[in-house]
Amino acid sequence: MAEESLPLTSFASTVDAILDRHRHDGTRLMQILRETQEALGWLPPEVLTHIAAGIGWPRAKVAATAGFYSFFHTEPRGRYRVLWSDNITDRMLGNLDLMQSMCQKLWLEPGRVSEDGLVSVDTTSCTGMCDQGPAILVNYRAITRMTPERVDAIVELIRNETPLAAWPAEFFRIEDNIRRKGPLLDHGLMPGEALAAALARGAEGMLAEIKAANLRGRGGAGFATGLKWESCRNAPGEAHYVVCNADEGEPGTFKDRVLLTSYADLVFEGMTLAGLVVGAKKGLLYLRGEYRYLLEPLEAVLSRRRADKLLGRDILDRGFAFDIEIHLGAGAYICGEESALIESLEGKPGRPRIRPPFPVTHGYLGQPTTVNNVETLAAACLIAKHGGAWYAGLGTPKSAGTKILSVSGDCARPGIYEYPFGVTVGQILLDAGAGERTQGVQVSGPSGVTVSREEFHRRIAFEDIPTAGAFMIFDCRRDMFDMARNFAHFFAHESCGFCTPCRVGTSLVRNLMDKIAAGHGSPYDINELFKLHRLMKEASHCGLGSTACNAVFDTLNKFRPAYEKRLKSLDYVPAFDLDAALSQARQMTGRDDAAAHLSTGAHP
Ligand code: SF4
Repeated sequence: MAEESLPLTSFASTVDAILDRHRHDGTRLMQILRETQEALGWLPPEVLTHIAAGIGWPRAKVAATAGFYSFFHTEPRGRYRVLWSDNITDRMLGNLDLMQSMCQKLWLEPGRVSEDGLVSVDTTSCTGMCDQGPAILVNYRAITRMTPERVDAIVELIRNETPLAAWPAEFFRIEDNIRRKGPLLDHGLMPGEALAAALARGAEGMLAEIKAANLRGRGGAGFATGLKWESCRNAPGEAHYVVCNADEGEPGTFKDRVLLTSYADLVFEGMTLAGLVVGAKKGLLYLRGEYRYLLEPLEAVLSRRRADKLLGRDILDRGFAFDIEIHLGAGAYICGEESALIESLEGKPGRPRIRPPFPVTHGYLGQPTTVNNVETLAAACLIAKHGGAWYAGLGTPKSAGTKILSVSGDCARPGIYEYPFGVTVGQILLDAGAGERTQGVQVSGPSGVTVSREEFHRRIAFEDIPTAGAFMIFDCRRDMFDMARNFAHFFAHESCGFCTPCRVGTSLVRNLMDKIAAGHGSPYDINELFKLHRLMKEASHCGLGSTACNAVFDTLNKFRPAYEKRLKSLDYVPAFDLDAALSQARQMTGRDDAAAHLSTGAHP
């Protein structure tokens, strides 16, 4: 890793070995860049030129990819790169004070590299460790449960230039924190058992069971999995692909981390089942860069499954061929969007594609591709074993099965909880040991729903509150404005910049929230926030922009005093200027329908 990086003068042989290992294949560019950076410490201009020649791509295209992802560095960084996870739950656990203390001890400003090039310290978006924060990444290895004592110890290790491999193993211990198991987390299946059941049913039989199960995507949108697999299966193409979206980037979500740590067989087996149904020979698991530490263990599971004939050319001696590759992301939240993820898999910047066409017909390399969430694929194994009717009997009429929640924030028992769909927010709070003083819950992360006390009877289900899994709890010591402001900063940082409403809108929202936080806000600014919410919801190119203001909008409606106490005056709230907003939406998008949607919105 970087603290043992090679001198740049010898880069050619190192990079050539990496290029050879990846067959000089441009679609492997993300992995080539990552491995090169791990060897050299950063990605110097001459190295990008060398890689471009090696894969036969224009240099500008390679530089565009290297420049897009926050975990790739085209300028020198410290040999030790410390990134503090900066989700709101990390803040609630005191991450900023700890980071400040670390910087003082290292004589360093956040975001700067020390003069001797030894160390840099900065913040990053949520690292998926909210149940055991505050968390940091050191050279992209996760360390959780940071305390003042751990800060002191790490400062010493860095000062002494101790290689990461010699740091106390305890620092890198990551807990599963499984608090409540249901049929999925308590599945009892042996590796290959679900696959054997699926092969016995055949591809069409398995598809019929998935449809009968009413399985819906667990990434939040809830699209019918059977329909997706059927569309992919029926689409013409030279090859079909299965992609597992393990880019779990929504702040507050960490259930895929646990599935990939302790249920990897189930996930890979679900991918194999999907391959059987859609007619794919290849699967790709896209693992978020923050989970770099899982790469080797997951590769070991794949090797074992190949040895056991659960992957490969002749799975279970049934003449079915399927194998899986792992691609590691590099710190871009937008790659959780399926078309952006596919772009990234192809070695490009993760910008969402214009749709249609959809990935089921034109996905990875332009071929039919099904992209499914980790949890969805794991659930498919249960259906293979127990049948669609059994699965459809769990949960609610429109939300079959169970949902795994990542619970964090102000509660006694943060961790992973599996419930049948339909569980109330109040029940989860009770189970997690959240006290009477709970004032709100953010369900499904910054792009989700802010639930107030009056709504704790509401249910986790597609009929009521859909979720990708995050469940962040806030008691009355917390300021819900701070939460919304943290999320506004998150979206401004993560916007890919492709479309104007999101690129400009997220920055404007962040600036307005900062202005209000500084005590310079006015009712006019509140009105501007409402306006931006609607514009971005209707005119953004993808879900990031259209949901980026959700938490601001919800907290404005449900926790208005948190804003009002910061305003200079409450005298006059100007009327929302709908005509101006409509005209702005038309100008931004050139779409009349954007304006039409806008006009139907309800202003509080
Ligand atoms: Fe990119 Fe935001 Fe537009 Fe999505 S909405 S394409 S993230 S700029």
